[in-house]
Amino acid sequence: MSSDIFMKNASPTKEKTAAKTKGKNGLENPKENPERNLEENLKDTFLDQTLRPSRFEEYIGQTAIKNNLKILLQAAKERDHPPEHILFYGPAGLGKTTLAHLIAKEMNTQMKVTSGPAIEKVGDLASVITNLNAGDILFIDEIHRLNRAVEEVLYPAMESGVLDIIIGKGPSARTIQLELPPFTLIAATTRIAMLSSPLRSRFSGGVFRLEFYSEEEIEKIVARSAKILEAEIDKGAAKEIAKRSRFTPRTANYLLKRARDFAQVKRTALTEQIVENALDLLGVDSMGLMPSDRHLLISIAEKFQGGPVGLNTLSAALSEEESTIEEVHEPYLIRLGFLERTSRGRVITEKACKHLGVATPASLSEKLF
Ligand code: ADP
Repeated sequence: MSSDIFMKNASPTKEKTAAKTKGKNGLENPKENPERNLEENLKDTFLDQTLRPSRFEEYIGQTAIKNNLKILLQAAKERDHPPEHILFYGPAGLGKTTLAHLIAKEMNTQMKVTSGPAIEKVGDLASVITNLNAGDILFIDEIHRLNRAVEEVLYPAMESGVLDIIIGKGPSARTIQLELPPFTLIAATTRIAMLSSPLRSRFSGGVFRLEFYSEEEIEKIVARSAKILEAEIDKGAAKEIAKRSRFTPRTANYLLKRARDFAQVKRTALTEQIVENALDLLGVDSMGLMPSDRHLLISIAEKFQGGPVGLNTLSAALSEEESTIEEVHEPYLIRLGFLERTSRGRVITEKACKHLGVATPASLSEKLF
């Protein structure tokens, strides 16, 4: 039971996508989500927003990006012009959306939020973009999921501040051009490789890659979140959460909330031992692997003799979407050195076999000698 709950809540992509169903005008309506009950939805959305840093000083880590942004924003302010378009990329839960909010706050401007899948048609984009005021920020999450037709309308909007709309079809079709107020597009993606290079090159303000956090940085994030949640936590407990957090702030906050629930129900303090018990119950092991990560690795080791195995074969064997494997599981497993991506497919490493306590496949042992 517990692992089911964990899988549903902890998969960053799923949690986020589910919470971001499309509302009117292609903008998101976080309340509309058929998969989860309303109360649960609102509670989590509320907590996420409560824990989100509201000033750059509260945003821990990613120092190089913060320093670059400070210069970009300062220069824009001095010129009294919106900053140029910015792209953030990296695994889910590392703080891309948070940075966009911080930029809007710093520029003292409004931010409209939408996402690639929410903008299905050119008309959806036109309606979002023509509703912007001068200086507004438009945030498009999962921009790699925009379709080509929409992308092509976005180019002139980003570059020259005009929207080309084709009216009618065939020989009588004509283009009208709408002037747009100056705005800044901030986009986020977990799949930079899926972005066409013309689109990438239009982010003239910068393309920034968010890195996984260090354990010390996550400890600081946990301590800050615990303070906001009014949960007393000792250093050992914060360390244990950090160790199992996949170096990802969103996961760290999720684990903290679940450990706090556990301590509350057991009428005990949030100690290292309690964190261990709570996270063991959720099926999160000492390296932060979830049951689904272990299932993936064990399948490669046992069903595919350690690999290489192609992504689509793996996806079929696990009944898991390819995008979930690529966006949720792989970045962390590769970072741990548990999985390798080769031209012939995915290969498990000896380190992973040792951690999981499974026999090292013969193909791997052969490679070692
Ligand atoms: P992404 O857009 O990359 O998926 P988010 O910006 O939604 O990630 O971040 C998820 C949560 O993690 C936020 O609500 C925030 O509470 C926390 N978070 C992310 N980055 C940081 C950071 N650098 N410092 C503190 N908390 C952070």
